[in-house]
Formats: sequence, structure tokens, C-alpha cells
Amino acid sequence: MNKAVLEFSSRPENVAFARVAVAALAAQLDFTLSDLDEIKVAVSEAVTNAIIHGYENQPDRIVRVEIKIAEEYIGIEVIDHGKGIKDINKALEPAYSTDPERMGLGFAFMQSFMEKFEVSSIPGKGTRVKMGR
Ligand code: ATP
Ligand code: MG
Repeated sequence: MNKAVLEFSSRPENVAFARVAVAALAAQLDFTLSDLDEIKVAVSEAVTNAIIHGYENQPDRIVRVEIKIAEEYIGIEVIDHGKGIKDINKALEPAYSTDPERMGLGFAFMQSFMEKFEVSSIPGKGTRVKMGR
């Protein structure tokens, strides 16, 4: 099992950092380029959510990404200690967003691109998104 942990400031420019770092690790496995693109989208969506929803765009909070690869499997967890999600089932509905300017599709992408997908959240404490494929 190969593991890596990233911790970075909750700044939008770090979405690309997380996406590229995860893809660099995933590239050690036999994924196709299109698999890697889908994994990158899932990571971008989860990290973006942590920054804009979890931390409400405060730039100096910490987003944590834990990555594990073994055999032909990658597991990714995206963790914030921000405001949390009150109703997870509602948040997971496609096209549901608490922000009228957004599409509400981030979780839908994560679910369709990753085989394993699980969200846990405690209001006021934070959110953890576990994904794998
Ligand atoms: P889009 O991803 O299309 O820009 P969105 O971010 O609103 O829009 P989702 O990514 O599907 O859509 O998330 C749905 C809702 O879940 C968000 O509107 C937000 O209320 C809540 N949410 C998601 N991630 C978090 C998080 N890390 N912390 C707090 N709330 C979150
Ligand atoms: Mg989103």
C-alpha cells in the first residue's frame, strides 16, 4: 500500500495542486488517461466544495486529502473542518445546491466517476468525502 497526505490552504488555486498531485499518484496504477481525467474531476469537485461550502471561501483554513493506492485501486479522502452539511441526502440530489449561482452537480460527478463514494459530515465540525475506484 502506497500512501500520501496533502494539507493545503483553502485557496482556489490549490484545487489544481490537489488534482495534479492525486493524478501523479494514480498514474502509478494502470488507469487509462480517461480514467485519470475522471478521477481528477472528482478530486476537483470535492476540494472545491471544501473551500467554497465547508470554509465559505475563508482562505486560511486547511483542506486535507489522503490518498492510498494498492494493487489496482485508489482511495481518496477529502476532509475539511468547516461548517458541515445538515442534510446529506438532500445535498447529494443532482441539481441541488445551497448556492443559487451553482449547478449542484459536484456530488453527481463524484458519484458517477468513482465506484466507491461516501460522505460523512457533522454540522459545525466538518465533512469527509471518501471515494475510490
Ligand atoms: P457545483 O458543484 O455544481 O458547483 P454545488 O457545489 O452546490 O454546485 P454539489 O457539489 O453537488 O453542488 O454540493 C451540493 C451541496 O452540498 C452544496 O450546495 C453545499 O450546500 C453542500 N456541500 C457540499 N460539500 C460541502 C462541504 N464540504 N461542506 C459543506 N457543505 C457542502
Ligand atoms: Mg460542488
